[in-house]
Amino acid sequence: MTHPATDSRFFREQCYIGGEWRGGAKTIPVTNPATGETIGAVPDFGRTEAREAIDAAAAAFPDWRARTAEERGKVCRAFYEALMDNQQTLGELLTLEQGKPLAEAKGEVAYGAGFFKWFAEEALRVYGDVIPSPWTDKRIIVTKEPVGVVCSITPWNFPNAMIARKAAAALAAGCPIIAKPASQTPYSALAMGVIADEIGLPKGVFSVITGEAAPIGEEFCENPQVKKITFTGSTKVGEELASKAVKTMKRVSMELGGNAPLIIFDDADLDKAVDGAVACKFRNAGQTCVCANRILVQSGIYDAFAEKFAKKVAGLSVGDGLKDGVDQGPLIEEKAVEKVERHIADALSKGAGLQTGGERHKLGGTFFQPTVLTGVTPDMVIAKDETFGPVAPLFKFETEEEAATMANDTEFGLASYLYTNDLGRAWRMMEALEYGMVAINEGILSTPVAPFGGVKESGFGREGSKYGLEDYLNIKYALFGGLGK
Ligand code: NAP
Repeated sequence: MTHPATDSRFFREQCYIGGEWRGGAKTIPVTNPATGETIGAVPDFGRTEAREAIDAAAAAFPDWRARTAEERGKVCRAFYEALMDNQQTLGELLTLEQGKPLAEAKGEVAYGAGFFKWFAEEALRVYGDVIPSPWTDKRIIVTKEPVGVVCSITPWNFPNAMIARKAAAALAAGCPIIAKPASQTPYSALAMGVIADEIGLPKGVFSVITGEAAPIGEEFCENPQVKKITFTGSTKVGEELASKAVKTMKRVSMELGGNAPLIIFDDADLDKAVDGAVACKFRNAGQTCVCANRILVQSGIYDAFAEKFAKKVAGLSVGDGLKDGVDQGPLIEEKAVEKVERHIADALSKGAGLQTGGERHKLGGTFFQPTVLTGVTPDMVIAKDETFGPVAPLFKFETEEEAATMANDTEFGLASYLYTNDLGRAWRMMEALEYGMVAINEGILSTPVAPFGGVKESGFGREGSKYGLEDYLNIKYALFGGLGK
């Protein structure tokens, strides 16, 4: 069954390379995870087409960087407006290929658009420095320049926003960018190609290529014309790309996996903590890098929290994201469901208790029941591995020190959350948590105006905020000598 969004002008089954729409003989089918039906197919391109996109970007770079910041800002603003004007259709397309509830999909389009709006304005603030000179006849200045051609690779869980976070900053800084979306969710990316085309971005400044990840990734990493690789996805693929990119000393940004702790202290506001934990854990069916993967609850509030939380989770409505009132869509693929099942089975076999859920949903396919486990301990697989699904494991702790130690006991360091009404404790924990981001008394923290990114094996680089632009800029130091008479 087709959906009206696939009849819209945003639904493209060709790639946008160097300002041209191009189809290919070989294609990759794209499936709606809610129905298992094929939505369509996109080109299965490889190294040759990636090289062509890079050549076009390199050719476009001199003109794009020479434009005034105001001109580039206007383009970003136009991108923002086009996304927002078409939020409904783009949201529907996103739900069709990714599965998240339409309200979340529209929220993602607005979130992604917000980066274009933010960087439209930040483009005007790429300031340099004048450094007090140690010499009477010389002066020192520092300027910022665009790094050059950028290649991005992004995952399926946020098909619009993961590209927007990168493309908006790159374009504002003066860099052409090529986007390689996840093969499961290419349509939101191709729709951004339609927007780039319609708002009149010069040829080659924004390209979208779909196809086999490994050869395209190799061309991105090995081609000397590419000056920066920006990747969001698994730590394993991130490590591979970073090690390949280092051979030509490219700039690299890595937004990788997480294993977020959400810590609830005895003195927290229980209702707020329950609401925050549900939003944090079950958004996008638990398939976000900043989803709470471990919920650590202090012993005095543990039982009360577990009861209220499980009750609320049991009330979440599961279904096709395009239907009204749905809180949780399907998981992206069968493999994802199997991972969720493995994590639950391991926890139960080691003594965890099942409060709600625990099984595939009666809707079949990749729908899974929102699940809450209690009595979870650090020896269980779920404590170490990102579940990336709708399973909330509750751990118990006694003291603040123990909470910090448990929270930091992972190689990841992306997002973390804590609920407490004690200001001193909130501050101490904020300092103790080895994470790039800490939310206090909130379950959702992403916004274009704040720096998103991790430490440890969650990667490096920041997206959004004034810091996000720096990742696309090189610093140039100029010494003006011979000023003495
Ligand atoms: P993934 O397997 O690493 O895939 C992500 C992207 O990399 C896709 O476009 C994929 O293309 C591509 N890819 C796969 N193998 C590649 C290779 N050998 N060379 C070049 N590109 C390759 O990640 P995933 O499992 O789909 O996504 C979920 C992960 O992303 C989780 O770990 C999550 O925490 C992380 N994530 C992090 C952030 C953040 O901001 N830190 C945000 C969202 C998600 P194909 O689809 O064509 O295979």
